[in-house]
Amino acid sequence: MAKRTSSARPAHRKKQTGKKRTPVRTRSGDVFERLDRLARNIWWTWNPDAKALFESLEPALWRAHTQNPIAVMDALPEWRRESLRSDDAFAEALAKVEAHHAEYMNARTWFERTAQGKEKKLKVAYYCMEYALHEHLPLYSGGLGVLAGDHLKSASDLGVPLVAIGMLWRYGYYRQELPQDQDVRILYPKYDFSKLPVEDTSKSISVPMGRGSVKAKIWKLQVGRIPLYLLDTDIPENKPADRKLTHHLYGAGIEYRIRQEVLLGVGGVLALEALGLSPTVHHLNEGHAAFAGLERLRKLMKSGLGYDQAVDVVRSSSVFTTHTPVPAGNDRFDATLFAKYMKSYEADLGLKKQELLALGREDESDVNESFCMTVLALKMSERCNGVAELHGATSRAMWMKTFGAKKPEDVPIGHVTNGVHPETWIADEARPFYNKNLKPKWIGAGPEDNWWKKAKTTKPDEIWSLRQLLRRKLVAHLRTSLRDQLVYHNEDPGLINELYRTLDEDALTIGFARRFATYKRAPLVFKDAKRLAAIMSDSDRPVQLVFAGKAHPADKEGNEFVKKILSYTRKAPFRGRVFILQNYDTAVGRLLTQGCDLWLNNPIRPMEASGTSGMKPCLNAGLNFSVLDGWWPEGYNGKNGWVVGDGSVMKSRTKQDAFDAASIYETLENEIVPAFYDRTKAGVPTKWTKMAAECMSTCCAKFSSHRMVADYCRGFYLPAHA
Ligand SMILES: *Cc1c(COP(=O)(O)O)cnc(C)c1O
Repeated sequence: MAKRTSSARPAHRKKQTGKKRTPVRTRSGDVFERLDRLARNIWWTWNPDAKALFESLEPALWRAHTQNPIAVMDALPEWRRESLRSDDAFAEALAKVEAHHAEYMNARTWFERTAQGKEKKLKVAYYCMEYALHEHLPLYSGGLGVLAGDHLKSASDLGVPLVAIGMLWRYGYYRQELPQDQDVRILYPKYDFSKLPVEDTSKSISVPMGRGSVKAKIWKLQVGRIPLYLLDTDIPENKPADRKLTHHLYGAGIEYRIRQEVLLGVGGVLALEALGLSPTVHHLNEGHAAFAGLERLRKLMKSGLGYDQAVDVVRSSSVFTTHTPVPAGNDRFDATLFAKYMKSYEADLGLKKQELLALGREDESDVNESFCMTVLALKMSERCNGVAELHGATSRAMWMKTFGAKKPEDVPIGHVTNGVHPETWIADEARPFYNKNLKPKWIGAGPEDNWWKKAKTTKPDEIWSLRQLLRRKLVAHLRTSLRDQLVYHNEDPGLINELYRTLDEDALTIGFARRFATYKRAPLVFKDAKRLAAIMSDSDRPVQLVFAGKAHPADKEGNEFVKKILSYTRKAPFRGRVFILQNYDTAVGRLLTQGCDLWLNNPIRPMEASGTSGMKPCLNAGLNFSVLDGWWPEGYNGKNGWVVGDGSVMKSRTKQDAFDAASIYETLENEIVPAFYDRTKAGVPTKWTKMAAECMSTCCAKFSSHRMVADYCRGFYLPAHA
């Protein structure tokens, strides 16, 4: 990390430069018009005062409407509206938030401070199938979306000029419910866009789709300074089958998939044009949007460039991030299906059928190879990267054939390790701790400012108080949300009463929340149930375990894993010690990563490209206990958390499971439980707090999305722009 310089002061403490950049209207109009304006820039989701303001409208509705301020305002009865209109304290709080927002939007940003000359003209277009920004915006399935959402938030904080392209899903991914003794229930609530903070741009595009074309309306979602444009085909002008294109994220069927990818890639390029935007750099986040490269080629050739020149232009201005460490995870289409949707590009690009197909083949001479979106993206982007150091290496080994390389080192794929957006994932209750210990100010700090280093010198009892506070908040929330879950499913009231007795606000609390892809091995910790039960039920040193997670609807085994864990929560010896929350979303994600003491992660190495959920506890005085996969080999230093297994990869899955499970038990018994429960006279576990301080000071800045976006900006966007 670079030394802090005086010019790198937090943005919002900077003096105004006089010039007003973004018009932010404040203090005009009715209270509810003003609130509506605030709600339509989801900056509020990472500002605690703004969140508190919206919650104070009516806390019960706030919870009922997944913290959606627009839906809450819609539901407010007139008497409540009247009382808020004449509430002076509320008016004051509103004015304060508006001032904060104006300050944020007008601040001189990191990018403005650091970009030189022509760099200032940078304009990045960022494409992704999913964005996880907040639980009231159901536009995501999991980690890829969380990463993209945090990318936009940090680009906003740092002022990196970026516009994003995605889809406005009518049904999103799915809602998960866990009724007892039944299959996981998978529900598709239909979202009413009038209740979402999206604005109709009144622009639309017509996307060629096979023999016909599909119309897509363009919506805008404002993420701080960053506009996210969302395509929506569910409009009356389209045929029923075309209207469905933006219904389900990762819905069933390979043809549905290619059609959606045409929409995102080709439609994305057309949308940018319809909006009058001319990006200088195109960042494809995962291979789903790779058709953008072909559409850009077509446009460049229409404007007079030859094929080779056009390829040069597209390649030099494209950045591609791959997220998939296993060959099967990459989208492939057979030649017939590909031709059904992409044939027109043969004539437009002046290519023969096999030449066009070769752009998506690892081995260009193999006419039997299907068309791979990742291969197309790799070939059309000069700058490619994986999402962690290990994943970079895995990707280089995986794509040797595509580049005709003899050695992995010759494959031009680098890495930018993922990060998480600190202000999104830090508990509001932890902010006073950071305000005190990371002086002068951690909010608004640029990527060079490593305030987090100071965490090392915080007092053990302060770290411990923070940890206690966050765990107690978690337990309080679990009592209500698990109760609601049980009441909803008409469960035995005895079970509900028991929650209050067994959930322990002082017990070592382990969290495991992720997509239940089978390689993540959610049930691994139960491998030797007896040994685990012995660890968990020592009444002097109790341990509790909280799960949450969704598997893809088509993933039978993954959904069986969910059911299996649900069944453990009901029976001895784990009843009252193991819990599972239904419908893992960003709200559950925040709750668990903020409240749990220990974050367990046991994927099969090297199948976790990066993983980001483990970065979130670091911001909340929690510790990681993880397989050396994804980001953890870069994060772990021997003093800031624990390792499951030893990083070795075994041929036999059975042996690997047994080895890793044994490592979990041994480490819990000999290290983790003692570190948590060996206390000073004042009741502080100093070994634990020392590790937590070490973890904060070594991981928070390194795995922040500010660092990540700055890395993309300097290492990828600006060179591509030049
Ligand atoms: C952080 C987060 C993820 C990413 O988790 P990993 O399993 O570490 O990839 C996925 N879903 C939600 C809701 C999250 O908050």
